[in-house]
Amino acid sequence: MLGLVLTMLMVLAIPISTQAQVIKSGPPSCPGVALTFDLCPVRQGAGYDQALIDYLIEQKIPATFFMSGKWITKHDQQVRALLQIPFFEVGTHGEVHAHLPFHSADEQKQEILGPVRLLKTKYGHDATLFRPPYGEFNDDTVNVARALGLQFILWNVVSGDPDPTLTAIQIEDRLKRFVRKGSVIVMHANGKGRHTHEVVRDLHQQLLPQRKLTPMTMSDLLICNNQAAP
Ligand SMILES: [Zn+2]
Repeated sequence: MLGLVLTMLMVLAIPISTQAQVIKSGPPSCPGVALTFDLCPVRQGAGYDQALIDYLIEQKIPATFFMSGKWITKHDQQVRALLQIPFFEVGTHGEVHAHLPFHSADEQKQEILGPVRLLKTKYGHDATLFRPPYGEFNDDTVNVARALGLQFILWNVVSGDPDPTLTAIQIEDRLKRFVRKGSVIVMHANGKGRHTHEVVRDLHQQLLPQRKLTPMTMSDLLICNNQAAP
């Protein structure tokens, strides 16, 4: 009994650094960046930036998508198309795009698990990357994601692409200021970004080659050291 109590005290004494489990960038030595695209639910419109996706495929640009459950339900063909591309990676983004910190740990678990389950059962895809809606989380969110075996992915460069007041030039100026080795850039592929396609094209043609940075999937970025992608 005493041994058990001591063990419990020792476990409690270990500082659990939840922040350390939240990934915002790749290694600073890595000459790569992750272009990440959230697929948040949309009420109106196609909810899918076909021109952007076509460009990524034509140019063979590695990219990572975070799909919400509601989005998946409305975009069966698009889910299948994205899962087919070998240089695309697919993670999840909550079921209904809830504000997670307002919910109990159990409610958070259901919200996080929804699209993970759907991708597994309907598409046979194991999605191990998770990005919380709005980038909002608390300790419960991190603990639930870890218990589910998910990697918790945020970003360190905000494109601002869903902001209708920003021009492509303004978004690109922001990217020029912040993009560096190991950056994770958050953008949207659900049609909310009016200039996302143009910005990605300019990134691919100008900014990234100028800085000798290679686009990588999120998982490749995380295991990258100082080697450029093949
Ligand atoms: Zn979102």
